[in-house]
Amino acid sequence: MGSGSFANMREHLDYDLIDHIVISHMHADHFFDVIPLRYALLYGPRKRETKVKLWLPPGGETQLRELCASFADEGAGDFLKVFEIGTYDPKRSLRLADATISFCPTRHYIPTFALRYENEGTIITYSADTAPDENVAKHADDSKLFICEATLTANEVEHGMRGHSSAREAAEMARKAGVEHLLLSHYPSEATQEELILHARSVFNGKITVADDHARMAL
Ligand SMILES: [Zn+2]
Ligand SMILES: [Zn+2]
Repeated sequence: MGSGSFANMREHLDYDLIDHIVISHMHADHFFDVIPLRYALLYGPRKRETKVKLWLPPGGETQLRELCASFADEGAGDFLKVFEIGTYDPKRSLRLADATISFCPTRHYIPTFALRYENEGTIITYSADTAPDENVAKHADDSKLFICEATLTANEVEHGMRGHSSAREAAEMARKAGVEHLLLSHYPSEATQEELILHARSVFNGKITVADDHARMAL
């Protein structure tokens, strides 16, 4: 739900069909589009009255309320008309209809959770934002699809606390996890597809795709 995702999503999916949204961490590039979604749900033509369940990491609700207070007189009031806010417990898995989502803390600058989605044997793991992390790799074990961040360019060095990975480091986690397909995401806009795949390919033999707006894949 980072900036731009809601507009992109509208080209493919009726937002009125969304039941649940699960947020990995409270950095703006991962949740800010719940704001335009809130306007759409509040004022757009809707066929159903059900609220969208918005699952936030621990502490996320306070942050969201503070954000709403800065632009809406009602604070989070309008938000609560269309969203039912829930805080997930990262130690427990979440059952959402036929799917189970489980969490793993990542190495990032604020509390962040990788998400593992399982539904009838299909496993998709999303790294969220993370520096290379053994536990995230374990969490992705045997995934059909591993969506992993690749924020850093090939030779970029993170000084001090680390919080991101390069395409090569993403591929190392994919190899450890034994995933079928690595989808590189959250990469620098100056990086080319060829570069990203080249760096990832040096350590991972499975399928590698670079995520892009409006790309489709069948699972
Ligand atoms: Zn982040
Ligand atoms: Zn991010």
